[in-house]
Amino acid sequence: MAEEYSAFDQAQREFDKVADMMELDPSFRAVLREPSRALLVNVPVRMDDGSIKTYPGYRVQHNTACGPAKGGVRYALDVNLDEVKALSMWMTWKCSLAGIPYGGGKGGIEVDVHDLSNMELERLSRRYFSEIQAIIGPNKDIPAPDMNTDGQVMAWFMDSYSMNTGHTTLGVVTGKPLSLGGSEGRHEATGRGVAISALNAMKKKEIDPKGATVVVQGFGNVGYWAAVILHEAGCRIIGLSDYYGGIYNADGLNPADAKERAMCEEDSVCNLLPGKKISNDELLALECDVLCPCALQNQLTKENAVNVKTKIISEGANGPTTLEADQIFNDKGILVIPDFLANAGGVIVSYFEWVQGLQFFFWDEDEVNKKLAQLMNRNMDRVYDLAVEKKISMRDAAYWFAIDRVAKATKWRGIYP
Ligand code: NAD
Repeated sequence: MAEEYSAFDQAQREFDKVADMMELDPSFRAVLREPSRALLVNVPVRMDDGSIKTYPGYRVQHNTACGPAKGGVRYALDVNLDEVKALSMWMTWKCSLAGIPYGGGKGGIEVDVHDLSNMELERLSRRYFSEIQAIIGPNKDIPAPDMNTDGQVMAWFMDSYSMNTGHTTLGVVTGKPLSLGGSEGRHEATGRGVAISALNAMKKKEIDPKGATVVVQGFGNVGYWAAVILHEAGCRIIGLSDYYGGIYNADGLNPADAKERAMCEEDSVCNLLPGKKISNDELLALECDVLCPCALQNQLTKENAVNVKTKIISEGANGPTTLEADQIFNDKGILVIPDFLANAGGVIVSYFEWVQGLQFFFWDEDEVNKKLAQLMNRNMDRVYDLAVEKKISMRDAAYWFAIDRVAKATKWRGIYP
């Protein structure tokens, strides 16, 4: 039977593999392998019927050598300390790779939001944020939305912090509504980043985007915007899919024609656009220039990797490719842009939101998109150059770059006292 690892074991194993490759100094390795701080809180909430319930909550800061911790807060029944530790470590590498001045953090509450009224959700959110306030702040740790948390929850977080400190503090969370210090361009940023990375890779592979064939799996926030932006760049979108199935059209599909579908799950993209209905398995095997897996994890495996006929994979989802499939793609010469490089657009625009909030000065959408493209392209070029120089995969190069930056920052700062 295959060995099973917890999320945090997995995160440490990934780190160890690259730390070995880099011959990272063992003393720094010990610092980077564990979170620097983990706070457990017990959140009491007065329910609408007058009773009191308590919910376990967490905030973990993995590393803050490069700047304040950054990472989402999720509300789900299966949230646990091990998972939050792993997610905070992955955020350290993601922010480091993105070249933004943040460390990694993550938080969560063990709760099923469907069991709560809106008022109970508000009281839970405000009390949780007050409980973790000792380690939170615009220069300390900046939470953001994650699973089952949204702009409304961020607004309650921001308001609670501001009430407790006595002044409005926009920079304490990101992912806020536009009218409350949110950033233009944040909603489509992740998909835009996936598209920018794919266009960059096409240039490296000398593929003309005009007419290049693209397949996108998943038609939610990430997949929809990746498809729209690649379509706008002149690519031919020949395959799209969602949970219900896929659609193929060799002449090209216009994803914007199914915009309503992307915003709600009421109908399937395969019923809204003209073409041949196909399964998700058939979609992943379509011959194309670019494949963007933007649905969920473990979609490209050692079983189906041999059927994949693309030149570039730009990973919008988190963990869509297993390690075995990644090896097969590398052997086949497919350029894989790993998830924490390709889908970093969201955290990069969150960084822009924070910068704008600190200055109380806001940019227009063009400015945000221009700056996002600059950072995405710079990061992609750095990882590609390192992969070529070291003769390693893009994924290993991305980890290498990310870990190296944090290790150097830690070394420069030294160990206090
Ligand atoms: P979403 O819920 O808006 O969309 C998910 C889409 O995938 C839906 O269209 C759904 O129908 C489809 N889908 C579900 N199961 C499928 C299946 N078996 N086959 C094909 N399609 C299927 O989610 P999202 O925000 O677009 O996120 C997608 C992925 O990107 C997730 O892995 C998420 O963790 C990751 N991600 C999202 C962001 C972000 O800013 N939204 C940032 C980084 C990473």
